[in-house]
Amino acid sequence: MIKLTDLLKEVDDKPTCPIATQNVAVNLKNRQIAIDRYGYGPLNPNNPNIKFWKEKAEAWKLDTMEEAKSARCNSCAAFNITQRILNCIEKGLAAGEKEVPVQEQEIDSAPEEETTNTEQDAWDTIEAGKLGYCTMHKFKCAGSRTCNSWVTGGPVKDK
Ligand code: SF4
Repeated sequence: MIKLTDLLKEVDDKPTCPIATQNVAVNLKNRQIAIDRYGYGPLNPNNPNIKFWKEKAEAWKLDTMEEAKSARCNSCAAFNITQRILNCIEKGLAAGEKEVPVQEQEIDSAPEEETTNTEQDAWDTIEAGKLGYCTMHKFKCAGSRTCNSWVTGGPVKDK
């Protein structure tokens, strides 16, 4: 079984940027997997998203949606916002996340998911700012979203 501490160490030990911060196709693929398998969302965290938060509260066996809303990426132990990772994200965005060689170990082995340009634009627009890197599902995630894999104790920051 892979431990979260091992995943975090893996990111810290690597001198290069995670591939998903530099390659939009990899990022979209891994994000779609997080949406489909782990309930990553909601699309627009600024909306009430009652159905979304109600389902999370039920899944986590919580009393209220407010409790579920307190468990977001920005407080997850897999959410990496160290300066090194933020520099990687900035570098990738500045370069337009050009296609770069993909290392197999950086990509989940799930089948390719279709993401339309419109969907991509919506997610990316809403994601502007407050981004970090999810070391568990290997994609750039927004601090105000969440997923079923949320782990207490984050985010990962510089000491
Ligand atoms: S594992 Fe944590 S950081 Fe990654 S998407 Fe889920 S809640 Fe966000």
